[in-house]
Amino acid sequence: MDGYLTRRRHEQLRTQVRSFIAEEIRPRLPLEGVDARLDSTLVRLMARRGWVGLTIPKVYGGRGEGHVAKLVVTHEIARVSPGLAAELQACQLGLAGLLNLGSEPLKRTWLPRIAQGEILPTITVTGRDSGSHIKGITATARKDGDVWIINGGKAWIGASHVADIHCVVLRTSERTGDDCLTAFLVEADREGVQPLPHQESVALEGFSFGEVRFNDCRIPDGNRIGDVGQGEEVASSSSVLYGRLNLGAVALGILEAVLDAVVEHTTQRHLYGKPLIKHPVVNDQVGAIQANVTSARMLAYLAAHLLDRGEDADTELMTAKYEIAEKAVASATLAMEIIGAYALFPGESPIAQLLLDAHAMRPPAGTPGIQRLRLGQQAAGLTKGTSWSRRFASPRHPGMLARLSGD
Ligand SMILES: Cc1cc2nc3c(=O)[nH]c(=O)nc-3n(C[C@H](O)[C@H](O)[C@H](O)COP(=O)(O)OP(=O)(O)OC[C@H]3O[C@@H](n4cnc5c(N)ncnc54)[C@H](O)[C@@H]3O)c2cc1C
Repeated sequence: MDGYLTRRRHEQLRTQVRSFIAEEIRPRLPLEGVDARLDSTLVRLMARRGWVGLTIPKVYGGRGEGHVAKLVVTHEIARVSPGLAAELQACQLGLAGLLNLGSEPLKRTWLPRIAQGEILPTITVTGRDSGSHIKGITATARKDGDVWIINGGKAWIGASHVADIHCVVLRTSERTGDDCLTAFLVEADREGVQPLPHQESVALEGFSFGEVRFNDCRIPDGNRIGDVGQGEEVASSSSVLYGRLNLGAVALGILEAVLDAVVEHTTQRHLYGKPLIKHPVVNDQVGAIQANVTSARMLAYLAAHLLDRGEDADTELMTAKYEIAEKAVASATLAMEIIGAYALFPGESPIAQLLLDAHAMRPPAGTPGIQRLRLGQQAAGLTKGTSWSRRFASPRHPGMLARLSGD
């Protein structure tokens, strides 16, 4: 089974994605080198189909399809190109803050253009100096009359070099309290925005994720997302409500690709006069990977359905991201053993690349350590504040409830 509790519209979408993969993605593979990371052709084709704006409500020109639809698209693409799926999902991350905390003029200006695929956005939070410690952000925004002046650097930003706008979280107060950060929408072509030369990475071919510097970049106060001091809410809502499921979806696609590679290898390679899969030990190992794929699919689809239904899904989203990424790493490691020497040659097997791609799913939207920290706090009743999914999924926040039709 490909998905769980999906509707006809989800399966129609899956068929469209598979056609797109066959017609547009496969002929362009492999997406090797920095040039492929700087080429936005494929992500823009996907954006034009409305796949960046799947969760944007129809009132803002989006498809209003919700998170299950987004999951279908993301893991199907990740199954053939984890880097492209990473880029597509990165362009969806900034939507949470804009939809839930952005001003009406900001939403009316930008959401229809994002929904049409005319504009690719990012979520630009991480700094080399901060990582998981969001209150450690040092890049600043300083108010000067009606404008803000932005300075500092951001690192490992998804779609950094191909996007048209950045949803940037910056320090606006020297204090370290909950209100020390503020979010802003910054156009990529604004004076003072400078992407640094893109470094090559060992993982996620075709994915632009690099550094952006802001040098005395002046932006109007109208570009502020939410109130002054709400930057951590913009970042956390993006990470919890979009990032965890999105990265879980990419990890699911990687896991499916691992299974595809292992099945192909073990059914075609013969040892002792029979296919590898007919040897009980190998059969057992492939069975373990299949179990990981099935349980990862269940985790991802359940979390997405809960989110679309407006249920409290924070724990399920966290668990899905954590477990699926760990299963992807464990399965790819086991696959390296099954495929043996062939696994060490990219021309023979994609498995070593998939192992690196699986590892790349660990740091973003909460490292494994951070997820276990949060889950442990939750188990012990030490969690502060309300659930993000409850808070932004209520009917008062139509941004998250893309559809309230009961499906
Ligand atoms: C593929 C990919 C895509 C990304 N996309 C984006 C993006 O679009 N936008 C963006 O802003 N950023 C993005 N990032 C950056 C990502 O958000 C950071 O990698 C993440 O926040 C973790 O930071 P770090 O890598 O610096 O690790 P660190 O925070 O330095 O963590 C290092 C280690 O310390 C542990 N650790 C840290 N804090 C704690 C703690 N409190 N308790 C216990 N252990 C702890 C971690 O678990 C980890 O093992 C992306 C990264 C990757 C790899």
